[in-house]
Amino acid sequence: MKLEKVIVITGQIECQTGLHIGGSEETIEIGGIDNPVIKHPVTKEPYIPGSSLKGKMRSQMEKLEGKVQPNGEPCNCAESDCLVCRVFGPHKRSSHNLGPTRMLIRDAMMNEETREEMKKTIHDGSSYLEIKVENTIDRKVGTAKHPRYQERVPAGAKFDLEIVLQIFDLDKNLDLVDFVRKALKSVEKSYLGGSGSRGYGKIKFLNLKKDGEDFEL
Ligand SMILES: [Zn+2]
Repeated sequence: MKLEKVIVITGQIECQTGLHIGGSEETIEIGGIDNPVIKHPVTKEPYIPGSSLKGKMRSQMEKLEGKVQPNGEPCNCAESDCLVCRVFGPHKRSSHNLGPTRMLIRDAMMNEETREEMKKTIHDGSSYLEIKVENTIDRKVGTAKHPRYQERVPAGAKFDLEIVLQIFDLDKNLDLVDFVRKALKSVEKSYLGGSGSRGYGKIKFLNLKKDGEDFEL
């Protein structure tokens, strides 16, 4: 098989509501936040891991393409007509004829404009990230119990997006760009990160370009 072209999609991810993507080791601080957002180990700035967006795009496309598995696992049918397996890779299947995973998403780092906003809040001693108190209601007595303190990236924050799509000769007659476009559009209608059903994680893609040319969802 031969790599025919590499397509690069860039843009920004804008948070329209507070976003919570938790770190893998969420430590509980006494009297602090139970649930901090993931931060870059070097810059300590929040970011959106490429794997979070990719996982969401995949699960959205599994729903749209009728590929949701009864066991809750990602699709690994490896059928030649399954664009989910072709673009994202057949989950945990080592032997198949689809070729390499077509899409990679880089970690989306904070956009310069947002970084400047965050610097201002650090300078004046306030916090750029917001803390949202989530109560669970004890339905027997109707009162709130166990408040949880969730850290969130506030609405308006922007992160830089880069998606790389490899097109091989065996993708002839398949519109993988359109598949990625549908996936992005579908994430806008859903959410990123945790607590989507509570309204968290609504995002919008801005200034999308495909190889430098305007790219409409
Ligand atoms: Zn599949």
